[in-house]
Amino acid sequence: MTELSGLQIFKYLPAAKKTEHTNCKECGCPTCMAFALKLAKHNIDIGQCKYAPEDLKRICEQNAKQPQKIIEINGIKIGGENVLYRHEKTFINKTVIAIVIDLSKPDWKETFERVKNFEITRVNEHLKIDLIITKNGNLPDCITYDALQKLPLKEIIDKEFSKTAEELITIRKKAVLEKDENYSDPVYVYFKHTDDLNLLCAKASYYICKYANMLVFEDFDENLITTLMTLRQNIFTDPQKPLQVESKIYEFNNPDKNSLIFMTTNFALTFFAVANELESLPVPSYLIVTPAEGMSVLTAWSAEKFTAKMVAKTLKKFDFANKVKNRKIIIPGLLAHMKDELQEEIKDFEIVVGTVEAFAIGDFVKNLNN
Ligand code: SF4
Repeated sequence: MTELSGLQIFKYLPAAKKTEHTNCKECGCPTCMAFALKLAKHNIDIGQCKYAPEDLKRICEQNAKQPQKIIEINGIKIGGENVLYRHEKTFINKTVIAIVIDLSKPDWKETFERVKNFEITRVNEHLKIDLIITKNGNLPDCITYDALQKLPLKEIIDKEFSKTAEELITIRKKAVLEKDENYSDPVYVYFKHTDDLNLLCAKASYYICKYANMLVFEDFDENLITTLMTLRQNIFTDPQKPLQVESKIYEFNNPDKNSLIFMTTNFALTFFAVANELESLPVPSYLIVTPAEGMSVLTAWSAEKFTAKMVAKTLKKFDFANKVKNRKIIIPGLLAHMKDELQEEIKDFEIVVGTVEAFAIGDFVKNLNN
C-alpha cells in the first residue's frame, strides 16, 4: 500500500464530503485540508480527527508499519529501507559488504589480513569492509556463518542472475508497497567462489542497485570491492544532503606568504576537482573554502549562500589578510559577475576571475606567471 498524499487523504474527510463537522477544528488544525497535509507528512495522528472514516484509519495503520526490519551485527545496520527509489525519500542503510573467511583453508590468515587492512578514501569518506563472516571457527569482531543464518535475514544463494534479480525485486516490492510482513526481513545475496570476477562484478553491481541489503563474498578482490564501494557510495548518498567538505583554508605544496590564493565553496565534488588541479600545479597555493551548505558555486550564489559579505566573513574568521602577503584572490570563473560586489566588500585583496572549469587551472596559472 503506497503512502497517501495530502489531497488523497482530504478526499476521506468531512470537508471533501461536505458532511457534518467540516472544518470543525477539533483536531487542532484550522481546516480538514490542513489536517490532511499534516497527516501525509506524519506530523499528526489520525486519532486526532474523531470523524475520520474507518477505511482511512485502516490505511494509516497499515502505512505506519515499518516495511523492512533493521538487523544490527557488530554495530553494522542491515535493512530498514522503506522506499523503492532514492528520489522518493532516501535509502537508509547502504548495502553491507561482507567477506567470508574460511578458517579451514591454509591461506586464511593472509586473506584475513588483506580484508582487515583494505581501506579506500573516496569523497572524504574512509571505506572499509563492513563485516567479516567466518566459517569453521570464529575470530574477534566477526560473526560466524552459523550465527548469521539464525538472524532474521533472508539468504539468496546467487546462481542465475535473472532469478536472483527477480527475487530481490519481488521481496522489496512486497515489503514496501504492500507492507507484507512475510517479506520484512532484510535480504542478503551470497556469492560462492567463482573465477569469473567480471561477471561477479556485474551481478553485484545490479544487486546493489536493486535491492540487496548485504552482499556476502567468498572471494576477496581489492579491485572488485573498490568498484562496488564506489557505486554504492553514489547510490546511497542522500540526494537532499549534498556531500560537503569542511570550510577552512586548505594548503597545497607547502604554500608561503606569497603563494597563489584560490577560492571555492564547500561542495565536495567542486572541492576535489579544484584540489586535484592545485595539487598537481608546479607552484604552491591556498584554497579558501567558504561554507555554502555543500552547494556548488552557482547554486550557492543563486541561493544567497555565497555572498560578498559571507566571503568577507570567512576571510576575517581565518585572519587571512594577516597570514599572507599576496593580495590577489582567484575566484571561480562562474562567479565573474560577482567581481565588483566582492571587491567592494573585500578591501584587503584584489579579486581576480579564474577559470570556469577546474581542468583549466594549470594553463591559467601559466599565463598568470607570463
Ligand atoms: Fe476536519 Fe476532522 Fe479536523 Fe474536524 S477534526 S477539522 S473534521 S480533520
